[in-house]
Amino acid sequence: MRILVLGGGGREHALVWKLSQSTAVEKIFLAPGNGGSYQEQKVINIDLNTADFPALVKFATENEVDLAIPGPEQPLVDGIESHFRKVGIPVFGPSKKAARMEGSKAFSKAFMQRHSIPTAKFRVFKADQFEEAISHVTTCGFKVVLKASGLAAGKGVLIPQTTDDAIAGLREIMVDNVFGDAGNEVVIEELLEGPELSVLAFCDGYTIVPLPAAQDHKRIGEGDTGPNTGGMGAYAPAPIATPALMDRILKETLRPTTDGMRKEGFPFVGILFTGFMVTEDGPKVLEYNVRFGDPETEALMLLLSEDTDLAEVALACAEHRLDSVSIKTRPGFAVSVVLASQGYPGSYPKGKQITIGSVPSTHFIPADVVVFHAGTTRSNDKLVTSGGRVLAVSAHAGTIQTALGAAYSAIGNIQFDGKTYRQDIAHRALRPASV
Ligand code: ATP
Repeated sequence: MRILVLGGGGREHALVWKLSQSTAVEKIFLAPGNGGSYQEQKVINIDLNTADFPALVKFATENEVDLAIPGPEQPLVDGIESHFRKVGIPVFGPSKKAARMEGSKAFSKAFMQRHSIPTAKFRVFKADQFEEAISHVTTCGFKVVLKASGLAAGKGVLIPQTTDDAIAGLREIMVDNVFGDAGNEVVIEELLEGPELSVLAFCDGYTIVPLPAAQDHKRIGEGDTGPNTGGMGAYAPAPIATPALMDRILKETLRPTTDGMRKEGFPFVGILFTGFMVTEDGPKVLEYNVRFGDPETEALMLLLSEDTDLAEVALACAEHRLDSVSIKTRPGFAVSVVLASQGYPGSYPKGKQITIGSVPSTHFIPADVVVFHAGTTRSNDKLVTSGGRVLAVSAHAGTIQTALGAAYSAIGNIQFDGKTYRQDIAHRALRPASV
């Protein structure tokens, strides 16, 4: 099998790392990849932009690609699935219609309402309804969260502390257009409280198979302080996701979601990533993403068992026969700790030389520690930083503590100027009272 994977982050490196272990896989093209991905067996970095659909389709047909796997949300929301489908290439990823579950929060909230899926109370306002939106936040009687409805690179959510803050936030989104077109509609919802969970599930339109629940760490600073980032680390399984809770999530949310999407004419194929807040009234959906999460994927790929063939699973999803393959996870825990550039998520320097010391090679299988690359590139034969999130150091072990110990000791052997990371990844699992 020849696979084309789109993207260049830690998520995509983790995907090609796992895909390359499949005996069914002959070659993996990764567009554009990064400074570490091409070192994996069978992986070839391709210098193509994930937004250039005609060039990607041309490349895929000329190179007899059997399966396409888009990593990031933007090409999915822009409809890349139909471009490959038209030339007969199966895609592990949703159609443009199904991708609206991530591309429009107004759409996904209305969907949840139609299907009685537990989520925060909400109302949607168009850009010209600024006065109505102000009146709603001043009279609704609960604390609110403001969300630009469209894609805003994980930055489109504001959590105001006071009504005045809420009005200022509405002005930013609706009048000043700080999120551009993503703010053409704004979702105002009730503030929920509780620990968060990320549940990633394989789906073929009919069958849904969830992976163990993960928790990520959005804030840059220890103790969950400072600005939001793309994610500074993740671990799975999260101990709060008991079998009873996972059962409830499957029954109340995941099955009604995929059944509802199919019945409404846009069945979901790919990874459905549902973000939950586990409230006193049970798990409520915060958002849907229509692709793998980053850095959850860097932990979850280590959790999949060696005999789970990701390439076969992805193809089975695209061919609506997920029930014909087996998905198993290893016992124990996986963690992923992100090393970022100094200044991230604000501005940061690039081109800092990276040295990776005695960390087990990424070809070492079964892997206990794997260094996935994200914002790295090769320049004059040197490995240098090229992004905000630089590396995701991931480890698997029998206990969370051992996995963390392995990841942090590997981090000690990795150097670059401004290396920034959180030392408290998985703190919620180690001190459950602090969730
Ligand atoms: P992501 O980067 O995860 O894709 P996003 O911009 O799509 O983020 P959401 O996941 O909807 O947006 O929200 C981002 C974060 O805001 C959540 O992880 C959660 O911490 C917080 N949040 C969202 N909705 C609520 C809510 N109703 N109550 C409390 N916190 C919320």
